[in-house]
Amino acid sequence: MGDPHPKLQAHAVTRTFGRAPQAVHALGPIDLTIAPGEFTCVVGPSGCGKSTLLRIAAGLLRPSRGELTIRTASQRPAAMIFQDYGIYDWKTVQANVRFGLDIQKVPRREANTRATDWLTRMGLADFADAYPAALSGGMRQRVAIARALAVEPEILLMDEPFAALDAQLRTILQDELLALTQTTRTTTLFITHSLEEAIVLGDRVLVMSARPGRIIAERRPPFPRPRSGEIRTTPEFTALKSELWDLLRGEVGTEAAA
Ligand code: ADP
Ligand code: MG
Repeated sequence: MGDPHPKLQAHAVTRTFGRAPQAVHALGPIDLTIAPGEFTCVVGPSGCGKSTLLRIAAGLLRPSRGELTIRTASQRPAAMIFQDYGIYDWKTVQANVRFGLDIQKVPRREANTRATDWLTRMGLADFADAYPAALSGGMRQRVAIARALAVEPEILLMDEPFAALDAQLRTILQDELLALTQTTRTTTLFITHSLEEAIVLGDRVLVMSARPGRIIAERRPPFPRPRSGEIRTTPEFTALKSELWDLLRGEVGTEAAA
């Protein structure tokens, strides 16, 4: 790997919402280092602070304590994809995908070329002039992914991007994202509540505790890259999934009892 410096580094990051005595300790302390090109998945019980962590990484929220640094070599931004897509209904598909490039003041001609390129890769070339309302949920999600990737982010931050999709489409998009990130080697922090998704995609899977979310375990799926979705049917996959589920089940129980 060319760049030895971590892309993302968190030191003792915590986040609290509100003031005492009503303060909610949502997250941390979290220590986390992500190397260039690494695909890191985070799983954890609902409400444990996963989105809070991602919003801190995206610079949308400050930690209450500690520090999170993103180290980029260029002006290229970190790109974030939310669970609810965040695409604009009043812009065409093409304009949505071009959006980040327009903000970066990429010349219109080049921006259109890059947007078209990503739409083609996402199988959406025929829908460039359509409005998002005309698209299915899966297609809208692909628009959101195309928009995030078109800026060629140094770090991709994804918060349960496939959560709202049906199982079949989810599998298809997982495989697409797998192929894509193995080509681009984009550093990615990916939040999911699907263990299967985390194992298919991740170089490592971090398990978070119940709120306040801390990292309680780390596993590296034992599948060399480039890998394909076929690993889902291997005994190693099943074994890791059940191991992660055991770790997580303890935390879901803790949360329910709290
Ligand atoms: P997750 O994404 O893991 O489901 P979140 O990060 O969304 O969890 O939330 C973690 C905790 O912080 C929850 O208890 C949630 O209610 C609380 N929380 C999140 N954002 C805010 C906010 N802006 N104000 C107050 N509480 C919040
Ligand atoms: Mg969340």
